[in-house]
Amino acid sequence: MDTASYSPRWSRVVLKMSGEALASSASDETIDATIVDRLAKEIVDAKNQLDMELAVVVGGGNIWRGATGQHAGIERSTSDTMGMLATVINALALQEAFEKNGQPTRVCSAIQMAEVAEPYIRRRALRHLEKGRIVIFAAGMGNPYFTTDTPAALRAKEIGAQVLLKGTHSGVDGVYSADPRVDTNASRFDEISFTEVLAKDLKVMDLTAITFCKDNNLPIYVFDLMMPGNIKMALAGEKVGTLIK
Ligand code: UDP
Repeated sequence: MDTASYSPRWSRVVLKMSGEALASSASDETIDATIVDRLAKEIVDAKNQLDMELAVVVGGGNIWRGATGQHAGIERSTSDTMGMLATVINALALQEAFEKNGQPTRVCSAIQMAEVAEPYIRRRALRHLEKGRIVIFAAGMGNPYFTTDTPAALRAKEIGAQVLLKGTHSGVDGVYSADPRVDTNASRFDEISFTEVLAKDLKVMDLTAITFCKDNNLPIYVFDLMMPGNIKMALAGEKVGTLIK
């Protein structure tokens, strides 16, 4: 299919990417500028070619996860705050890469840090989207005891996105009947219901996020973020992943 024949499946989306998507598998770099630039370029090209509004939620797991510190004896709320700050570092790296690729971008942080990013204000975020800017939601929800899956779902709902895109970096390109890395007979679902995901305890996102999406009727599209060309195909509704609804 050539570029011209693509049309967007949705007009406003939130893309959730794990912090580890920005890291290097080949070295110890927590943020690999080459990988970040490649992803940013793909995201910007897809957004522009399909003419849609895009917000991004990035995790912080390449730098810090709350659970890591908790195991080391750091109080959970403090450790989670460290994790939220890690997401801000990733958001700044992404913003830089988007803008290098010609895409105006705003970072909206759930933790106030006026010198670094603007505070998250829903109506302001909506205005950015309407003006064609990419919005990166940083610092999760600003509350401990969550991962970034839940604020990704929450923000998606708040801004009226039609879908939450969950870009994976593990090589698993959707929801499978079993773990495809272990079971060669595992098959990928094109579509699956929230009820089935919950009943079968399929590890797609955090349970809190899945439940939120189910309760609020927000579909999730799971696809492999790292496969070149996939972002545009996912946004265009090609069958490169699994739709949960
Ligand atoms: N976090 C939090 N509240 C939030 C979002 C994130 O406390 O609303 C913390 C939590 O400790 C989490 C860390 O930030 O482990 C990094 O986010 P996440 O684990 O989702 O990163 P990812 O795995 O997506 O890279």
